[in-house]
Amino acid sequence: REKTEQVARSMAPQFRERSVSLEKEDVADGRFSISNEHFTSVLSNLLSNALKYTPPGGTVAISSKWDEQAKELILRVRDSGVGIAPEDQKRIFDKFVQIKHRDASTPGSVGLGLAIVREIALRYHGGVELESALGKGSTFTVRFKVQRVPEMEKDLLAVSNNEASTL
Ligand code: ADP
Repeated sequence: REKTEQVARSMAPQFRERSVSLEKEDVADGRFSISNEHFTSVLSNLLSNALKYTPPGGTVAISSKWDEQAKELILRVRDSGVGIAPEDQKRIFDKFVQIKHRDASTPGSVGLGLAIVREIALRYHGGVELESALGKGSTFTVRFKVQRVPEMEKDLLAVSNNEASTL
């Protein structure tokens, strides 16, 4: 959660500048066994794409949740932007693939962002899903198989409650 807020804060000026609103919905609480760098890289790539492909006045929303059963951290970035045609939805995750949009310019980009996102998700035995319709926006869902790391206090409490831990 803190990391999510940090990334969102750091990108807030760019969103303001383009008049796209950046919303945080439910964000998973707790610590997870994913490196800060990996998490930041996934989230900032998705956010900068969402911003790039959402016209002024649009909305980008971040949410995340912890699925206890599946042991998965699920991160979702939704935008109200230009959307991605069905025939392009698979290949945008490939390296160096860029789709030309009529109203979006992509200066300085090379088509690696989503390939990196997928690579990182796979490293955590997860994956990326995309739901999108042209003109309606896109939702990227990234799953990471991680562990939820107990908070320090809870951890200590667990140890003191455990009979076997009288070391
Ligand atoms: P880049 O942003 O450098 O072009 P990416 O790998 O991040 O490369 O994205 C590949 C392509 O996927 C982009 O060229 C764009 O057409 C499409 N794309 C990515 N994110 C979005 C989005 N949120 N909305 C619409 N199209 C997107």
